[in-house]
Amino acid sequence: MSRVYNFSAGPSMLPEWVLKKAASEMIEYGQSGQSVMEMSHRSAEYQAIIDDCEARLRRVMNIGDNYKVLFLQGGASLQFTMIPMNLLKNGHADVINTGQWSKKAIKELNKLGKANVLASSEDKTFSYIPDVTKLDFHEDADYVYICENNTIYGTKYKTLPDTKDIPLVADLSSCILSEPIDVSKYGLIFAGAQKNMGPAGLTVVIIREDLIGNAKEQTPSMLNYQIMADNGSMFNTPPTYAIYMCDLVLQWIEEEIGGLEAMKQRNEQKAKLLYDYLDNSKMFSNPVNPQDRSLMNVTFVSGDAELDAKFIKEAKANGFINVKGHRSVGGMRASIYNAMPIEGVEKLVAFMEAFEKANQ
Ligand SMILES: *Cc1c(COP(=O)(O)O)cnc(C)c1O
Repeated sequence: MSRVYNFSAGPSMLPEWVLKKAASEMIEYGQSGQSVMEMSHRSAEYQAIIDDCEARLRRVMNIGDNYKVLFLQGGASLQFTMIPMNLLKNGHADVINTGQWSKKAIKELNKLGKANVLASSEDKTFSYIPDVTKLDFHEDADYVYICENNTIYGTKYKTLPDTKDIPLVADLSSCILSEPIDVSKYGLIFAGAQKNMGPAGLTVVIIREDLIGNAKEQTPSMLNYQIMADNGSMFNTPPTYAIYMCDLVLQWIEEEIGGLEAMKQRNEQKAKLLYDYLDNSKMFSNPVNPQDRSLMNVTFVSGDAELDAKFIKEAKANGFINVKGHRSVGGMRASIYNAMPIEGVEKLVAFMEAFEKANQ
């Protein structure tokens, strides 16, 4: 067996430690006589797993007691609807547009209320993060919405907008658990699990308690944070196996990596290898404003579509898969989420150097 280095933007690599542990527990979990997939979500065994997952997430991210952690389905994309359904009171929210994922959120918000787009980086193909220090938020905006790490373009907010008393709502799908954050700065954080938390099928929402309970009466039960919170994410069958896998990923972060500060150092080391190479390369370059560079998604171009295609093809043949950029921007993208080992990035850089030399 030989595993490839998978640079996919998501679903993406999982730590081998996690896969091995899951494999060893596949047929029988503990002394339960069954796999996790076969367990009743109402059983004591399963309750212990979901409780452990929540407790670990709270420890790892240092989540305050005034926040609820919800394990939901529907992907990050369903949150584009669920957030306005539950948080709108005055009917409008302020939004910063940093790319396709914020545009999709704006579209859904506009179906239920109004999105005030205060700033956008669309003028330069979303290659930067707008200056958030100069924004005038509407005092009666129900929330301020951002996409913190822009998976497609490889940009990331390095400072959060200071929204004062207005709740900050943030899509952390592609950067959650990559470094320590101050959860208390946010009203609501959400993330699809399939980038840094586990397999697809699970969406994690971390919501400040005062933001729960404002949904309009006609809100479908499945889309009501209050109902999900009151039922411990078990109003219906939760994505049981994905939650178990997320628990293993959190165990790996706590026990093997040593927490988010250590995770951050590892991620910075990986990103530096790639950015340093790109900054010195005569063939490839990173199109992003240097101070807005993502730790997780590193985009690069050669400026020649044919050469890009050749690179992607040869990379794949050498065991570096999914380095093609998003179809909307072209070029290349190496997603180097938590689970990508340092050797994977070192070997990719060595391959890029060799490719550059061979194609001068
Ligand atoms: C992947 C991604 C999404 C979409 O996630 P789904 O779970 O497929 O809905 C949304 N936002 C960001 C930032 C992403 O990277």
